Amino acid sequence: MATTKKKQGTKKKVRRNPRARRAAAKKSPKARASARRPERKPQGRRRATPRAATPASPAVPSRDYRSAPVVELPSGRLSANFELSEFTRSQTASREGIPNEPPADSIPAIQKLVDEVLQPARDAFGLSMNINSGYRSLELNRAIGGSSTSQHMWTAEHAAADIEIFGADNLELAHWIEENCDYDQLISECYDPAEGPNSGWVHVSIKVRGRNRKESLTYQRGEGYTPGLPPL
Ligand SMILES: [Zn+2]
Repeated sequence: MATTKKKQGTKKKVRRNPRARRAAAKKSPKARASARRPERKPQGRRRATPRAATPASPAVPSRDYRSAPVVELPSGRLSANFELSEFTRSQTASREGIPNEPPADSIPAIQKLVDEVLQPARDAFGLSMNINSGYRSLELNRAIGGSSTSQHMWTAEHAAADIEIFGADNLELAHWIEENCDYDQLISECYDPAEGPNSGWVHVSIKVRGRNRKESLTYQRGEGYTPGLPPL
């Protein structure tokens, strides 16, 4: 009863006077806390009891967890600035409901690409790097018309990613990688200086074992692939 009366009193004051409303809002945490205390206490007690009992009692059956999809891949951080999810998300996959989970044994390959190319490049430019396309499942690669031998279809042997750095020239990024990194294939794709530095993107791949080819190429729509990078 007492609580109800207090609440009603506060409501009336608030409606009459906006200043009082603000003042009441400032003071309200205490008032709210005291008003809620009777409601919170039982909740706290309820929570405290199982917590205290948990160590001694057997695990509580968790149907909710079991019915949830099992994530077997080690998702999460690959380096200071890269997470696996950046490489697996795809608008086409989302739109068309195409599964796009990389095989678990391909994780060392993308880890190597991050460690030896992407993170060093990101550090050198000091700007965030966007992953335009990372992993592609066979189905996704078909859906977007990728090459049937695309290294975007990660395996235990290789991984590839299409990258760009907004605020830096993508051709400069390609040249930096060529000069400073070991890679299998490096492609400057659809770069047009007339469009400005954000034009195009850079494809880069790496092999886990064996010698990387260190092959640099340029791709232009209508012209296909030509050897070497465009000059800076
Ligand atoms: Zn690519």
